[in-house]
Amino acid sequence: MKKDQSRIIREQAPRSATREHSVPLYLTSSFIFDSAEQGRAIFAEEEEGMVYSRYANPNTSEFINRVCAMEDAEAGLAFSSGMAAVFAGFAAFIESGDHIVSSRAIFGSTHQLLTQLFPKWGITHTYVSTANIADWEKAIQPNTKIIFLESPSNPGLELYDLEALGRLKEKYPQVIFSIDNCFATPYLQKPLPYGFDLSIHSATKYMDGQGRVLGGVVVGKKELMDKMMFFIRHTGPAMSPFNAWVLSKSLETLGLRMDRHSSNALALAEALEKHSEIVDVKYPFLPSHPQYELAKKQMKAGGGIVTFEVKGGQERAFRFVDALEMIKYTSNLGDARTIATHPASTTHSKLKEDERASLGIHPGTIRLSVGLEDQEDIIGDILQALERTK
Ligand SMILES: *Cc1c(COP(=O)(O)O)cnc(C)c1O
Repeated sequence: MKKDQSRIIREQAPRSATREHSVPLYLTSSFIFDSAEQGRAIFAEEEEGMVYSRYANPNTSEFINRVCAMEDAEAGLAFSSGMAAVFAGFAAFIESGDHIVSSRAIFGSTHQLLTQLFPKWGITHTYVSTANIADWEKAIQPNTKIIFLESPSNPGLELYDLEALGRLKEKYPQVIFSIDNCFATPYLQKPLPYGFDLSIHSATKYMDGQGRVLGGVVVGKKELMDKMMFFIRHTGPAMSPFNAWVLSKSLETLGLRMDRHSSNALALAEALEKHSEIVDVKYPFLPSHPQYELAKKQMKAGGGIVTFEVKGGQERAFRFVDALEMIKYTSNLGDARTIATHPASTTHSKLKEDERASLGIHPGTIRLSVGLEDQEDIIGDILQALERTK
């Protein structure tokens, strides 16, 4: 069998009669049947075949197959955005009266789903704020349907022990173990072999890697994906073929890019750790990270996000961000271009101050999505902005 990168790059939609080398864009909403009998057989699922792009399309199928190859997954589905994927990861399985256990540090819109939307349908949740597995087990109730987490978390970069959670899954086989694996990417972290049922991604981030299109993907056990397919077919959050074409091409370079994001991020984290204007730096592959050993065990490298706190609180943080020259302030991440964000006043502004503090978000906290530019230029821009705002 071919090695990982070769399999991913060579996984390709069937070549058309035109004998193209690179996969064309299949902008078609539906597919024709050669005969009424074939139409009947495909609808009856006696024969395989594309029907309508809300269900499947050659570009989305290629994208999904590549993510499956990366994550050692049996099957997968693509979505119009990361949030459509996260929502389906819950909604395809939960019923009124069910309960969800989730890590406290999760993406803002996922938090809104759990706290604002699901209660309307009688679905409750318990947040766990520690990485201690005993606390996770304590949160499980007889009606718990799903355990959900993000690792590393945003923006605190706290990790959860995937192997220990896999052992918990063995004890509670009826509970679906689900992870938002967006920050790590399938290249750096593979949760399914530990026993997780679902791995979810916002493809908008590192999978695209260039800040162009939105997308989401869920991969996991075939049986669960079949249930989710029913949900997609009849609710319509499908990925557009154009976005799938862009994202599938991007996956060919995901590994290369993640290696570079990670080495740039580590160099920046090391430079900041020694700096007198910095209170604290978080990066999973810094030996000072409290879960450094765990990070080395379950991640191939530390990823592209570095979170640090500047001296002087929000006033200094604002001046610092405004003093950056090359690096832009925008609320995306995972781009080839380095991006700065101030979580307390943007992504996490709806939380109370003490809730933010418990997630490691202080008034001076900056989240940096470290890009693919030259290390010297990224570090240089940060250092000049720190110097100018002393
Ligand atoms: C961005 C993001 C999402 C949502 O993805 P969209 O593509 O923006 O809908 C979900 N989870 C995490 C961890 C994210 O970073």
